[in-house]
Amino acid sequence: MSEIITRSEEAILLEEQYGAHNYHPLPVVLTRGEGIYLWDVEGKRYFDFLSAYSAVNQGHCHPKIVAALIQQAGTLTLTSRAFYNDVLGPFEQYITNYFDFDKVLPMNTGVEAVETAIKIARKWGYEKKGIAENKATIVVAENNFHGRTTTVISFSNDENATGNFGPFTPGFVRIPFDDIGALEDVLEKHPTIVAFLVEPIQGEAGVITPATNYIRKAAEACRKKNVLLMADEIQTGIARTGSLLAVCGDCSCQEHCEKQATYTRPDVLILGKALSGGVLPVSAVLTDNAVMDVIRPGQHGSTFGGSPLGVKVAMAALEVVRGEGLAQNARRLGLLFRERMSRLVDNSDLVSMVRGKGLLNALVINTPAESSVAWEICLALKDRGLLAKPTHGNIIRFAPPLVISEQELLTCCDIIEQTILTFNQ
Ligand SMILES: *Cc1c(COP(=O)(O)O)cnc(C)c1O
Repeated sequence: MSEIITRSEEAILLEEQYGAHNYHPLPVVLTRGEGIYLWDVEGKRYFDFLSAYSAVNQGHCHPKIVAALIQQAGTLTLTSRAFYNDVLGPFEQYITNYFDFDKVLPMNTGVEAVETAIKIARKWGYEKKGIAENKATIVVAENNFHGRTTTVISFSNDENATGNFGPFTPGFVRIPFDDIGALEDVLEKHPTIVAFLVEPIQGEAGVITPATNYIRKAAEACRKKNVLLMADEIQTGIARTGSLLAVCGDCSCQEHCEKQATYTRPDVLILGKALSGGVLPVSAVLTDNAVMDVIRPGQHGSTFGGSPLGVKVAMAALEVVRGEGLAQNARRLGLLFRERMSRLVDNSDLVSMVRGKGLLNALVINTPAESSVAWEICLALKDRGLLAKPTHGNIIRFAPPLVISEQELLTCCDIIEQTILTFNQ
């Protein structure tokens, strides 16, 4: 009892005792962030290689985003959508131009945007496609991650996400990811399908990167059957994968990318996370008039969705992405990262592969998913000043803020290499 406990231990004990145990954090207690760095309560500095699951693409506490927050926080934060405000309209114009869609519906968390997309697709199915009442079906991919509400977990195949949370929402069919044949088959078989909801790269599943033409072909298959392609770019979007959106393919121009040959335009685009640079929960669904028109007054909403504070922050966050060329940086440094990690794969039996796009990457550790080795590697990385976390047991995701420089990235590659080579012995 007389032992001195550190500030870190104290903070961890408090969370243990008073917080629900719905996460299993790495034992590090953070108190400050700036750019690509985080500091713990003992003053140790870390490279952040998780970026709050890609919510902090612009780096921690980006001065321009924080300035927008402070300015708007002292002016007007929330009015409810019962009235107009003078920030929402400009935001809607800005974001629809930015991503080239007719209309936007702002929400808060990512999963709310997914829920919104599902509701829009169903309503569109009944009102525009003539689907019989309560029959609308949405196709999803195996190993998807779209968030944690009851409806959204209803189509998850992760037993941790679903166990004892039933009964579930009907109206979804799951097909293998990256399998165009399976998509064409299901579209052929079920005339009640209204949408295909998919992550262009499956982040939570372990950065599963499909064949180059997968999304393009999926869009073609959907178009043929008058089915909406709904891209969940909550994690992959906003420059993370080396282009403004993962559906931009190989284009990193950040502007007018619909003109590029590699761009596949989804019918519905779902954004969250980095839309606010990690400052506030801001999410959005973008689509064209013919789809968004099905939503009329009183049919959907959110108290905080489209708040002056949230949308001001989102505009600043998107401005930073463009102004600092984050997509180009992510593309260039992503190539470098995978090149360095491929060498590590060659030199170490402990890593079986590196995969990813832009600065959304993962190392697959050559152990069974139940093994604790990936966790132990993350603990060792933490000791050496780099924060990352395993996903699905033996996969470690590496996703630093996109403001990282080449020199800093190379330093981080050294840390990762040295740490893993130590484990090999
Ligand atoms: C994080 C994430 C979500 C859920 O976002 P929340 O803000 O946690 O609700 C949905 N889809 C994808 C692809 C995500 O990465």
